Amino acid sequence: MGRWFPTLLAACALGAAGAPAWAGKAHEHGVARLDLAVEPGRLTLDLDTPLDNLLGFEHAPRSDAERERVASALARLRDAGTLFRIDPAAACTPAKVELVSAPLGLGGSGAAVADAHGDLEGHFEFTCKAGARAGFVEVGLFAAFARLRRVELQVVTARGQMKATLVRPASRVALAR
Ligand SMILES: [Zn+2]
Repeated sequence: MGRWFPTLLAACALGAAGAPAWAGKAHEHGVARLDLAVEPGRLTLDLDTPLDNLLGFEHAPRSDAERERVASALARLRDAGTLFRIDPAAACTPAKVELVSAPLGLGGSGAAVADAHGDLEGHFEFTCKAGARAGFVEVGLFAAFARLRRVELQVVTARGQMKATLVRPASRVALAR
């Protein structure tokens, strides 16, 4: 994780004293983190991304144009079946999407912190008939969000845990089998 430090410190220099929402977490524009867990009956994905990757800004929307950007980004995130296409062998269907972002007033996290930076966390849950048979997941984040360049993945399956990195335009995550 050492490589995050220079960016994190640079980001901190912009923020006020106190504890910003992203304190202690990586916040690097262009990069998102995605945790993927495969279980026999369920596949879950947890996304953690700077808002800049989704919107090009990180504050509450101030104009109609910005409100449209937010609505469009949220619609893409809520369309989990398009954003994440799971190997059909696993027979998964989207079951739940939860989005949390203080600047956007999502997730009941209270008033937005006055800060130069903001994040969004997404929790995506699929119900699967044969989750263990999932050989891959196609991650559609690059297609949906043009500013995103890299996704750092942590994948947990019945076979163990692995890290992977997707660099635009790659989209396929092979699951350990
Ligand atoms: Zn930022």
